[in-house]
Formats: sequence, structure tokens, C-alpha cells
Amino acid sequence: MSDVSKAKAKKRIGVHVGVAGGSWTAVERAVAAGANTFQIFSSSPRSWKSAPVKPEDALKMQQLRAKHDVGPVAIHASYLINLCSQTESVRENSTMAFRGEVERALALGAEFLVLHPGSWKGLTRTEGLKLAAEGIEKAIEGLAWQGKDFRILIENTAGAEFSLGGKLEQVAELVEVLKPCAPVGVCLDTCHVHVAGYDIVSEDGYIETMLVVKDTVGFDAVKVWHCNDAKAAMGSKLDRHEHIGEGTIGAAPFRRLLHDARFDHSVFIAETPVDQPGDEARNVGVLRTLAAG
Ligand SMILES: [Zn+2]
Ligand SMILES: [Zn+2]
Repeated sequence: MSDVSKAKAKKRIGVHVGVAGGSWTAVERAVAAGANTFQIFSSSPRSWKSAPVKPEDALKMQQLRAKHDVGPVAIHASYLINLCSQTESVRENSTMAFRGEVERALALGAEFLVLHPGSWKGLTRTEGLKLAAEGIEKAIEGLAWQGKDFRILIENTAGAEFSLGGKLEQVAELVEVLKPCAPVGVCLDTCHVHVAGYDIVSEDGYIETMLVVKDTVGFDAVKVWHCNDAKAAMGSKLDRHEHIGEGTIGAAPFRRLLHDARFDHSVFIAETPVDQPGDEARNVGVLRTLAAG
């Protein structure tokens, strides 16, 4: 096998999986879905409560990952976290919850922690940006992330009113502010890009949108692509994920993205709906097929 085809065969394609029975079970679910990378929640995404990682669970996860050559692993932070809320108590809860996310990610040996930048409703966008950066900085203070293969990835959002990160410029701004004090990178979501109003569907649109990526966050910073088709139209700002190839994006843009050498270093993780058993494997299979030809 040539080096090029080896790299292609090794392309990291995965899916968000559940953790019922312990976080390590996610590795088995990922492998069963044909994935060699995956994303999980490390606690309930809609609850402030969380339990610390059990050392034996972390060890099991590491052993299974090594056995099956699965990784990197992404953890998606809780949806409740809003580091730029206008309400101080929400900001405090969010900062503590995000600190817990970082602690659990480090304990599990996850490479990436994906975070939505939050909603600055009631404030200005500049204030929101400042609060988000301060919250992240405070949350990681004193934690042992230095020297680890670990990054907080700021995810672009669907561009709903007051939500930070619908524009790639805003993601880039936050990353720039954080760079001196935190290990940061970017997660781009195809559905969010599309419904936020960037054209990735037409060939010309794709070229133009990728120029925006280059000029804002830059290609190297994009560690993860969330691969989701969309139920809603381009520019609708409605975040509803659809199975790959069955939505308003369609299969062709995913093929283009998976073959785009500027993202050879990125991993591709679906967060597609699970309408029936086997949907995780089906979407991974579609991405794998698109990546192959
Ligand atoms: Zn996403
Ligand atoms: Zn989404």
C-alpha cells in the first residue's frame, strides 16, 4: 500500500455514540458502527449534575482504543453551558460545569472538548466574546492540561440571534483571544455552516466558503468537522441535523470535503439523527464510501 492510500484508509471517520454502561462502552459502539473516531457526552448534556470519571473506566477506554486503533476522541460539552450569559449565576454555573468538562476530558484522555461559544442576549457581542474568553480561562485555571494532547474546540453555530459563532469571524476572534492562555482549536459543523448562510453546496460556493475558512479560523485550526446534513434550508438559521446525503446539503459536498487535502489532518464525526437502530453505522458507512471515491 502506498503512503497516500494508507493515509486514506486511515482517514478518521466516526459518529457521536452513547455511553450507557460506562464511558468506555462508547469505544465498542464506535467500532460496531465502523468508526475509528467518535464523540460522546461525558455527563448528561441537559443536567448540571455530573459524576467524576472512574479511573477504571478511563483505563478500560484507553485499552479498548489501543486495541481497536480508535481515536481521537471528542467530548461534546453540555448544552446548558453558556459562558457569556447576561446572568451572573448562569455564568458561574457554566464556568464550574465547563471546568468539570475539562477535568473529565483530561481524566478520560480525550483529545478534544467541543464547546458552543454561547448566547450574549442582553449584552453586546463584544461583551459576550469577552465573557466567553474569561469563562474558559477561569475554567481551566490550575488544571493539568499542559503537555497533553488536548484541545478545547470552539464550534461554529447555526447563527441564531445572539448566539456567538454563527459567523466564522467570531469563532476566529474567540480563538485568537484564548490562544495565549488555553489550548484551543476549531470544530466546524457542516449543518451549522450551511444554515448560517455559507454556501458549501454549489462548487463555486464551496470554494468561496473555504476562502472564508482560510481567512478566519484557518485550515490548520480545524481539528474536527461535524458532518451533518441539514433538514432546513441554507441561511435558515435552523439547526436540525439530517442523515448524510438526505438533506438540503446532499452527498456531493461531503465527498468534496472528505477529499479536500486542506483537511487531511481533520477528523470527521457525524452527529446525525438516530431514527432506527443501525443509523450510526449507516451514516459512517455513507461517509466512508464518499471518502473512498
Ligand atoms: Zn456539531
Ligand atoms: Zn447542530
